[in-house]
Amino acid sequence: MRRNRNISSIISGGPSIDLISAVERFVYRNPIDQNESVCFSEIDDDLLRIALEASRISENTALHKVLSNLAYIYFYLQLYDDLDWTDEYTDFAKYATEMFQHMNIPVPSEFRRKSPEEIIAARDQHRNLFLSGLQFFVNSAFAHLWTRKGFLFDFNTRLAEKISPLLKHEYPALAKDGQLPRETYFPKWLVDMIMLRERGLCHYCNCIVASPSIANQSYDIDHMTPIANGGTNDPTNLVLSCPSCNNKKRAKYQMMPDTFFWPKIT
Ligand SMILES: [Zn+2]
Repeated sequence: MRRNRNISSIISGGPSIDLISAVERFVYRNPIDQNESVCFSEIDDDLLRIALEASRISENTALHKVLSNLAYIYFYLQLYDDLDWTDEYTDFAKYATEMFQHMNIPVPSEFRRKSPEEIIAARDQHRNLFLSGLQFFVNSAFAHLWTRKGFLFDFNTRLAEKISPLLKHEYPALAKDGQLPRETYFPKWLVDMIMLRERGLCHYCNCIVASPSIANQSYDIDHMTPIANGGTNDPTNLVLSCPSCNNKKRAKYQMMPDTFFWPKIT
């Protein structure tokens, strides 16, 4: 893969914003160029594994995994590991320095050296530090996307497309053809996260489902993309629902518009 990336366009909006734009383009199948199209097909190849793992609830959600894959390819493989994109090693030192600053990691002093050999040695010496810092961008991008339920619904539609065609005799972990087992136990950290995002309101009808001032309320945690349609138990697929909406909904799709669009970086 030949890259033609320009350092200022990569860093201008901050790597977390670049990551959000990249995952949007991935979910909506809207690659910016041929290079990105190849990158997206690699990530798509990994999406079945990610969707199957989302049979279980984990804090490392399917969205974290896709964001990690993107961050690894874009920020590490294409820019840190591969120096084909630059003729001047000082450009690479500038890239590494700015990335460490964005990661809130003290910039290793070796990147201030001038000779190409010293900068390449610094790159090798701090490879693992750089890789560990990518998690900062993943977590930051996730925190933004977590509030955008329209996007989360579309992301889960992509996951469901991987599960729906599967046959149980080939994938024994399925509950039946095209369906993962339904998770019915939701750990407290997850319920708290969803309650906080929903502010206690039903995702579908906006009625009050839970409030500190009202005792003994019943609520449901609902799968936006239904299990029956290939939906997963990933936290990104779960919303708060009042019992009556959950009963009405069953296996129908529901759309929730985004209330906030992150600006696209092009
Ligand atoms: Zn409701």
